[in-house]
Amino acid sequence: MSSTRADLIVVGGGPIGLATAIEGRRAGLSVLLVEPRIGPVDKACGEGLMPGTVAALQRLGVHIKGAPFRGIRYVAPNGDRTVTHRFSTDVGLGVRRTELHAALAARAAEVGVLSHRGRVVGIPTARSAAGANARAGIEVMVELDDGSAVGGNWVLGCDGLHSIVRRESGLALGSDGRRFGIRRHAALAPWTDVVEVHWSAKGEAYVTPISDTEVGIAVLGPRGWPFDEALATFPALARRLSGARWTTPARGAGPLRQKVASPIGDRVLLVGDAAGYVDALTGEGLRIGLACAHEAVRCVAAGRPQDYPRRWRSVTREYRWLTSGLVTTTRVPIARRLLVPTAARLPRIFGAAVDALAR
Ligand SMILES: Cc1cc2nc3c(=O)[nH]c(=O)nc-3n(C[C@H](O)[C@H](O)[C@H](O)COP(=O)(O)OP(=O)(O)OC[C@H]3O[C@@H](n4cnc5c(N)ncnc54)[C@H](O)[C@@H]3O)c2cc1C
Repeated sequence: MSSTRADLIVVGGGPIGLATAIEGRRAGLSVLLVEPRIGPVDKACGEGLMPGTVAALQRLGVHIKGAPFRGIRYVAPNGDRTVTHRFSTDVGLGVRRTELHAALAARAAEVGVLSHRGRVVGIPTARSAAGANARAGIEVMVELDDGSAVGGNWVLGCDGLHSIVRRESGLALGSDGRRFGIRRHAALAPWTDVVEVHWSAKGEAYVTPISDTEVGIAVLGPRGWPFDEALATFPALARRLSGARWTTPARGAGPLRQKVASPIGDRVLLVGDAAGYVDALTGEGLRIGLACAHEAVRCVAAGRPQDYPRRWRSVTREYRWLTSGLVTTTRVPIARRLLVPTAARLPRIFGAAVDALAR
């Protein structure tokens, strides 16, 4: 096996892998990032960067342009009931995933992250490998699909919802497989300065301004729900979109819920969606992932990786509680129907929840 080595081997060059790699360089570590796809990488996403996400990117030196949004609106299916909360902090940004990826990749290259094209297929234990590996200071190795391998002190598994690092490290607890996401873009000027979440009996559709001339539509719901069929269950939104030209094909992701035993294994830390995922309903994946990237690298750089699970729990707690609470409650049809009217009657509670998720 090859003895290419770095302090950190980051598996997955999505936004959180790139952010983890940048954090690693900022901490003075050598970083090798392994990603099979050539950028800019696209993915099904609502593409809403909450104010906290924008701030975290800025801290990493990633300054990105996008369409500003100032809050969140929940909308009943036929549009007759709505509730809106404008962020008490800063604005969020709607940004195409490909643009976000390109900006992060440019910053990673600028700070000296080394990139290696390949798909990780396994994590053989390296410490038992005598000789050359030990002499090269390699504690853990990842095996690639071309038969080569790279190694280092720590593997940061940032390989998304279906993480092979999570599975290979024995940390995966499976998925309940209920909810999936699909997204498309439409050539239409945004009609509001907030992200709209439309609720129907079977799922949700959220609309994010992406530019002066384009909106993104992300639909969340059961497995195999065709995009057009889903859209028809949100008549108010379907009316808005009627006649608009689609600018991208439907792209899906899921199942969303992914459970983990722990975000840490033997010389492995999981970050981003790889570390477990609840749901996309609250548009929080990137903010939480960026915060965990910071914590994971901080713990490793301080020589205290054992602190990471506690830090991970602390950073993700509010998101896990609020998101799983909302997903579980709205499985009950009556609760689902009453959600928007109830939130409209309790604007302060709705506002507090939105602000908690936006930070
Ligand atoms: C429908 C939907 C809407 C969403 N809306 C929002 C939103 O509005 N706002 C928000 O903040 N979040 C949103 N999210 C969540 C957000 O998209 C994710 O949290 C975010 O993409 C996680 O980034 P990541 O880098 O951890 O994973 P990913 O973006 O999935 O990146 C993983 C990377 O790992 C690579 N990889 C995979 N396997 C391997 C392997 N074996 N070897 C090497 N590399 C590998 C992949 O090629 C990919 O580049 C949404 C999610 C969905 C599904």
